[in-house]
Amino acid sequence: MSWPFTFPARSFGQRGVGRLVALCLLAVLMALGAFFWLQPEKSKLDPTWEVVRRTEIVQVVPTQLHQPALISSAVVAPTTRTGWSSSEVEALALAWKFCEEENYPQARQIFSQLWQNHPDDHEVKKGFGITLLWLGVRALENRAYFSAEDDLLRSLDLYPGAGTSGQVLLRLYLKMGRVQEAQPRAIDLMASFPDNPSLHFLGAKVAFLSGDFEGAVLRITRALELRPDWKEAQRWKEELERELQVWNNGQRFSSAHFVCVASADDLGMVQLSKYVSEVLEASARALVADLNLRLTEPVLVLLMRKEDFRAHAPDWSAGIFDGRIRLAVEEEANADAFEATVRHEVTHAVLHRLGYRLPTWMDEGLAQYMEGKSVARARDRLVEAAFRGELPTGKALQGEWSSWEDRHKVSAAYDFALSMTCWVEENYGRSALIGLVRELRHESLENLSLRLLGRDFADVQSNHRQWLEEGMP
Ligand SMILES: [Zn+2]
Repeated sequence: MSWPFTFPARSFGQRGVGRLVALCLLAVLMALGAFFWLQPEKSKLDPTWEVVRRTEIVQVVPTQLHQPALISSAVVAPTTRTGWSSSEVEALALAWKFCEEENYPQARQIFSQLWQNHPDDHEVKKGFGITLLWLGVRALENRAYFSAEDDLLRSLDLYPGAGTSGQVLLRLYLKMGRVQEAQPRAIDLMASFPDNPSLHFLGAKVAFLSGDFEGAVLRITRALELRPDWKEAQRWKEELERELQVWNNGQRFSSAHFVCVASADDLGMVQLSKYVSEVLEASARALVADLNLRLTEPVLVLLMRKEDFRAHAPDWSAGIFDGRIRLAVEEEANADAFEATVRHEVTHAVLHRLGYRLPTWMDEGLAQYMEGKSVARARDRLVEAAFRGELPTGKALQGEWSSWEDRHKVSAAYDFALSMTCWVEENYGRSALIGLVRELRHESLENLSLRLLGRDFADVQSNHRQWLEEGMP
C-alpha cells in the first residue's frame, strides 16, 4: 500500500492519452484484500485460524489439535507393545508427555528415534506428525519459512489427520507468494479431505490468486456447503462473484509483464489501459535497472472506479497489491502521483514474487524508494518525531504496522522504513541492499547482516535510530 504523496500536478491530457480524459490514481482494494489483508484488526476466519491483514497469514492456532484429551489418551500408553522394548514403550509415553507440555523439540527427538525403529507404527507416526505440525506452526510464526515448510511437509506425510498440516502449508505458500506451488497442492488436499471447509476456502484463495475466478467461486461455494454459517466465506463469495463478473465482462490489455483488465462498459477506462500498461512496464524496467529484480510471471492489474475502492480501503491508501495490483481510475488525474503509486505497487508485486516474505520495513521501504519518495523530507519528519520522543519502536515496526489506524503512527512507520532502507544503501552500498533482498530466501537477516554488512543487524538499526535522534539528517 502506498502512502499518499504530494506531487506537482501534471494532467493526463498532457500525455495525449484519449482526449482530456484524466486518470486519477487511487488504488483499490476489494473485499478479499479487505478481509484478508486490510482489516485493521485481526479477524477470525475459522476456528483454527486467526488471519492478520495483508499477505500476513499466520497466527495459526490449531487449537483442536491441542485438546488435552487427544494427547492424554495416548499418554496412557500400553505397558507392552509387540516388538517393542520396555524402554521404547517408556520413551513413547515420555514423547507424548513432552508433546502435551508443548516441549516440541524434545518430543521431536524421541519420536524421531522411535520412528526410525518403528516406521510403520501408527501411534509413532501420529505423535511425530502432530509434533512436526506444531513445530511448523511455531516456525511460521517466527518467520522461519523454510524450516516451517520442511516440518509441515513431513507432518503431512506422516500423519495427515484431518488435513490441518495441509492447511498450514497452504497458508505458508500463500504467505510466501508461492501461488504456483500452492495450486497443485490445494487440488490434492481438497481431493484428500473433501469435507474440510478450510481447505476449500484456501483452495479458493489460491485459485483467485492464480487468476482462476471460476475455480475460486466453485471452491468457496463448496466451503460454504460444508459450513453454511461461515460469515467470512459468505462475504468473500460475494466478492469473488463480483470479481468473476468483472473478469468476464472485462476488456483485457496485455503487455510483456502485465494483464490490465478494465470494465468493457467503461470506455474511459478502456482507453486508459494502454497508458497504464506503459506506466506498469516502465516501473518493471526501473526495478531491473535499480534493484536487479525482474518479474517472471505476468501480474494481473485490475482497473476500477474510485467508488468501488472506497468501500473497502482505508481513506489514506493510494494503492493496493493483494496478489494482483488494483488501481482505481478517476476522471481527475495527477499523472505524477499515479505513476508513483504504480511504481510502488509494482515493487510490492515483484518482491512478493520472490517467493518469500521480506520484513515489512524492507517491503515498504523499497516500495517507497522505487516510488521516488523524498527520503530527505521523511527524515525531517522523523527528526521532529524523535525530538518529541515519538520515533516508532523497533518492536512496533516488526508487526503489521501498515494496518494501524493512527495516521500519524502509520506515517512515521512508512518514513522510518524508507529512511532505514536508504540508510543501508548509503552506508553499505546498493549491492549490499540488493544482496539482503535476494538472499533472504536462504539466510536469516541476522546472518546476512553479518556477512553482507559486516555487523549485527541490531547495530545497524540502533545506529540509524541514534543518528535520527541526534538530528543528523
Ligand atoms: Zn506499500
